[in-house]
Amino acid sequence: MEPQPVIQIENIRKTYFMLAGQVNALKGVTISVTRGEMVAVMGPSGSGKSTLLNIIGYLDRTSEGSYLLDGIDVSGMSRDQLAAIRNRKIGFIFQGFNLLSRTSALVNVQLPLLYAAEGPAAKKELDRRALEALSWVGLDKYSHPGGQQQRVAIARALVNNPSLILADEPTGALDTRTSLEVIDVIQKLNKEKNITVVMVTHEPQIARYCQRIIRVRDGRIQENEKVDSPGVAARDLKEMPEVED
Ligand code: ADP
Ligand code: MG
Repeated sequence: MEPQPVIQIENIRKTYFMLAGQVNALKGVTISVTRGEMVAVMGPSGSGKSTLLNIIGYLDRTSEGSYLLDGIDVSGMSRDQLAAIRNRKIGFIFQGFNLLSRTSALVNVQLPLLYAAEGPAAKKELDRRALEALSWVGLDKYSHPGGQQQRVAIARALVNNPSLILADEPTGALDTRTSLEVIDVIQKLNKEKNITVVMVTHEPQIARYCQRIIRVRDGRIQENEKVDSPGVAARDLKEMPEVED
């Protein structure tokens, strides 16, 4: 059976209109991502990576072109309809993680669904899901987001049981070991839960853990490279010397 494309983007353009003039952030981008793939998006700063990711995640709309997610064309949908699909299918890991530092890991993980959960039954179900998501990343409800930001952020992306995870520079400000731990969790989600992953990174050594690298430059796809034998973070973590503390 042909692998099913989960993301089908054809010739999309994105133009931002500013007082100072217009910015053509995407100038005709065509890509497709297959279910279960783990793809890196690379490119210089300002090349349109975040814009592309935001469009894939329905956080932004295209100016032109078509985008099908799971075969569904969303161009005519209202904001509420988009939000509903987003809540059902997509988990986000943002750059800098966007967590509330004074709030428990549990509540941080529940945040994307908190406003939708009305009534005790829905709250209980949300608790159950959040605890399951936390345990997936090796945390529990007593964990504080403090030193575990990246794990909490991943658990939060998982809470709606998404089929697609979008991550914008998830290892941006992290040391090598912590970066590998993040990639390890993402790889496990990809393999064991068959979650499709699209991850923006500017680090070549991180991109090599993905099966494919899409390079963006000046709002265009420059290259689409299949990675021969992608790295396995769990293996590389084992080979890393332990840090003494
Ligand atoms: P990258 O993530 O690759 O650094 P972005 O997608 O954030 O690039 O930005 C691509 C271009 O679009 C840049 O020139 C940026 O300044 C511009 N841009 C991004 N978001 C906005 C916005 N909300 N309003 C105006 N211009 C934007
Ligand atoms: Mg960016």
